[in-house]
Amino acid sequence: WTSTSTPIDKLDELSRTSYPLCMRSLHEALRTQHHLKNSARIQYNLFIKGIGVTLEDALRFWKIELTKKIDPDKFDKQYAYSVRHMFGKEGKQTNYTPLGCPKIISSAVGPGEYHGCPYKHMDHESLRQKLFGYGIPAESVNEIAELSKDGHYLIACTTYFKVLHNRLPDRAITHPNGYFVESRAILA
Ligand code: SF4
Repeated sequence: WTSTSTPIDKLDELSRTSYPLCMRSLHEALRTQHHLKNSARIQYNLFIKGIGVTLEDALRFWKIELTKKIDPDKFDKQYAYSVRHMFGKEGKQTNYTPLGCPKIISSAVGPGEYHGCPYKHMDHESLRQKLFGYGIPAESVNEIAELSKDGHYLIACTTYFKVLHNRLPDRAITHPNGYFVESRAILA
């Protein structure tokens, strides 16, 4: 699922056009709250690695956001290591791959946490409000909300894709990075 190079100044735009809802929610939460809990940082950092953000850019991106709330020294001591670790540059140098839908859907998500799959983990009214807020037509919001309620998370995700791209993806959605690749194939 790895994509070619993506500069970090494109992430705001890409989050609106080519991210699945799980990653769009994480990006927004990070941008507005300048903080994400550990599981959310793992889910989002591995995703941006998969869309072609370099380690140097990922460190810069996280530092810019998180140091709006914490001092740079704390970032360097507490957070930089784990960003590098996920890029396989620390410890055993494991090459961690971005998380797929089954893993994200089966995550445990507590109150005030933003990781996971919104179709599974977000309460239905908040999901509907979020989709309305993105300008999704009411009929599609209802369809996506119903699919989510019935446990058809991947179909809900595919329906969101269809609304944003005016067509279905060529390959079934099973991975957030696959969603991104399908989207860029249409929009790039
Ligand atoms: Fe993300 Fe997969 Fe859920 Fe879509 S179905 S929002 S890609 S976890």
